Amino acid sequence: MSNKLCRKGYLLVISSPSGGGKTTIYNALLAKGEPFNFSVSLTTRPPRPTEIDGVHYRFVSDEEFTHLVDKNEFAEWAFVHGHRYGTLRDSIEKAFIDGVIMILEIDVQGALQIKENYPQDSVLVFIAPPSIEETERRLRARETNTPEDIVLRIKNAIDEIANAHQFDYLVINDDLQMAISDVSCIARAEYLKKCRFLGEIWED
Ligand code: ADP
Ligand code: 5GP
Repeated sequence: MSNKLCRKGYLLVISSPSGGGKTTIYNALLAKGEPFNFSVSLTTRPPRPTEIDGVHYRFVSDEEFTHLVDKNEFAEWAFVHGHRYGTLRDSIEKAFIDGVIMILEIDVQGALQIKENYPQDSVLVFIAPPSIEETERRLRARETNTPEDIVLRIKNAIDEIANAHQFDYLVINDDLQMAISDVSCIARAEYLKKCRFLGEIWED
């Protein structure tokens, strides 16, 4: 994208039920070379074998998480599937100055907190899988969750889908390439909004 330095960045919040395709779509967007940055969340969940601290999440103890909550360091945080997850203010607010699109891959409760805290500077995209049955099939095929965890995630998916109407955009992830293209178009159009221009369009 051009005019990077003339634009204010914004927060592109992507939510979906677990298995909805957030990570897959995010990885495809990165490969397109747009000015994206990714917010690394903090979580009290234990790391999975393939996860790297500081890359996939910052894995912290319950005590550390509580300390940060008490210091009001989070832009949003929530209990998700039995663990706490949160986004630090400092790590996302620099996106505005840097003129980048900061992607937050977070749950519905967190997304709605971001909308409340950054109404002008956030865009909420809900990715819906084509059906509950297909979500369950994808979660099983992914082989990263136990059968009990999948039952919990499917139960939570029904509540999450019920909140989709509070988002700015709804993308159905049936055909993956179409869903990637939809999110990419949203990200680009939102980046081009005139409210994100800083200063004059024609500069010396
Ligand atoms: P999330 O990050 O939302 O939990 P993932 O991106 O991990 O979801 O996707 C869950 C699984 O479904 C992955 O194995 C992924 O490869 C697969 N998947 C994602 N989108 C599609 C799609 N449109 N069709 C078929 N499989 C998909
Ligand atoms: P997982 O444990 O599978 O990595 O993620 C479980 C859920 O937590 C997903 O729905 C994911 O979007 C959500 N999540 C990840 N990071 C955050 C965060 O910082 N805040 C909130 N509210 N949810 C998050």
